Amino acid sequence: MTDINFNNISVDILTVPLFIEKGVEISVLRLDKIHPLISGNKWFKLRYYLEEAKQQNKKTIVTFGGAWSNHILATAATCKMNGFNSIGIIRGENPANLSPTLLQSQAEGMQLFFITREQYSQKIIPAELNTAEDYFINEGGYGVNGAEGAATILDHCHKQSYDKIGCACGTGTMVAGLINAAQSMQEVIGISVLKNNTALQEKVQSLLQNEDRNFQFIHDYHFGGYAKYKSELIDFMNMFYQQTGIPSDFVYTGKLFYGFYQLVKNNSFQPGCRILLIHSGGLSGNSSLEKGMLIF
Ligand SMILES: *Cc1c(COP(=O)(O)O)cnc(C)c1O
Repeated sequence: MTDINFNNISVDILTVPLFIEKGVEISVLRLDKIHPLISGNKWFKLRYYLEEAKQQNKKTIVTFGGAWSNHILATAATCKMNGFNSIGIIRGENPANLSPTLLQSQAEGMQLFFITREQYSQKIIPAELNTAEDYFINEGGYGVNGAEGAATILDHCHKQSYDKIGCACGTGTMVAGLINAAQSMQEVIGISVLKNNTALQEKVQSLLQNEDRNFQFIHDYHFGGYAKYKSELIDFMNMFYQQTGIPSDFVYTGKLFYGFYQLVKNNSFQPGCRILLIHSGGLSGNSSLEKGMLIF
């Protein structure tokens, strides 16, 4: 098991002709490089939950997710690294063939329970679980501890240097942490990767510590919804890799980078604007794509 490697984190300034032409400086905070399985933002979102579980002498962490959940895999690997047992409650019936994400989670020692979509939406917990001894983490690490951990992402760059900070949003936990950690004159821009994600605003709002923060969510770049894509997105990800050497994933960061290209194209930013984009990882999710679609 490799450790989390913070020394690998870099801030890459993109020398993309479009950005240079528009006078916009875009840098990418490379959290994708900290660990092959616990990728990107997931370790940050989990860190304070695990500290709390340790303080409460819990031995087992229970969390929730779908068959392709980066959060499930990251929880499995982080628990193994920190000496916790882990249990994943997975949405949907036990399939004949487990997804690569679930196979890897099992290999990291996670015990999997499958529940129906109805049970999942009602948060019905399998009766076999000893709920008093277990520590529960919400799907996607959503919650106050998750946002507090995500706020520490910005300790890995010189955050004062940027006018805007951009990231992809699923549950909104990461963006809430970034908003809490940002300075009042900075704007945080969240690209939603879900379709019609009207709950995002409220979910983020309930995790915020300050009233005076400057942020917005953009709902135009989900490509049909969560984990949906079109060939235009895949072509963009390949082009982005050729231009920058940075791999992205089709569920989150591909949509983030695509969205910012469009925003720059549409003159949404003043010349001289300095933007930091969070590469929140997720690259292992690309294994659900057909081989050969991506050049990296
Ligand atoms: C989970 C994940 C996100 C979304 O984070 P939230 O805190 O749920 O909004 C973004 N990017 C990647 C790569 C992820 O795996």
